[in-house]
Amino acid sequence: MAEALVETQGLVKEYRLGPHVVHALRGVSVRMRRGEFVAVMGPSGSGKSTFMNLLGCLDTPTAGRYLLDGEDVSHLSRDTLARIRNQKIGFVFQGFNLLPRISALENVELPLLYDGTPPSERRPKARAKLEAVGLADREHHHPAQLSGGQQQRVAIARALVNNPLLVLADEPTGNLDSRTSVEVMALFQELNRNGITIVLVTHEADIAQYAARALSFRDGKVIQDQPVAEPKDAEALLATLPPLEVEA
Ligand code: ADP
Ligand code: MG
Repeated sequence: MAEALVETQGLVKEYRLGPHVVHALRGVSVRMRRGEFVAVMGPSGSGKSTFMNLLGCLDTPTAGRYLLDGEDVSHLSRDTLARIRNQKIGFVFQGFNLLPRISALENVELPLLYDGTPPSERRPKARAKLEAVGLADREHHHPAQLSGGQQQRVAIARALVNNPLLVLADEPTGNLDSRTSVEVMALFQELNRNGITIVLVTHEADIAQYAARALSFRDGKVIQDQPVAEPKDAEALLATLPPLEVEA
């Protein structure tokens, strides 16, 4: 089998709260190849965000190993993890997390400020990603001047600007109406067809149906890991829905 992009071996995460120990992950072993589109499901408190934080090098495990692109990142220093994160991982959050006082284009440029990209290269790189998410004509808009779906597309462009190996999305449709959610899933599907590896947390079963593989967590363990039988095609579904609003 080709080397995995993500490989976790018996990943354990415990949080200490005074005298109590919270067992957030109780031994999670998964492999993901490049180019996969994986949905992570499970009830609240089952360990999904803890798992994503570890995959995203935002935290380190209590026990077990995590190999990212073949490199053991389980016990690296915070600084080294930050560097790996900037180079290899793009994040998309439920609440978009855009800075309100700067333009869409400047928001997309932000990760490039931290990784030493020369100023002259930042703008064209950011512009290319805004174009890739269909927002070339909105580059000077501020987040408040954009719809929720457009804001999430800006956040996705920002996640892509460093050409990451892996895009992690935690409930990216959680704040969106159902049509806009399908639009965002259409974008993720298109990115995935172009080779981007995506791991997406959702508690909505129908959103998971746009991925190719679904992992289910319960009580800190993976209780199910299987291909999505017939992934839904978001673009095809959109074609059958009437538009909700006329875009300004
Ligand atoms: P999910 O994202 O599936 O809702 P989480 O990974 O956020 O689950 O949480 C898993 C368990 O770990 C829960 O019991 C939660 O309360 C606990 N937990 C998560 N983060 C922390 C933390 N920073 N400190 C203490 N307990 C935590
Ligand atoms: Mg969570």
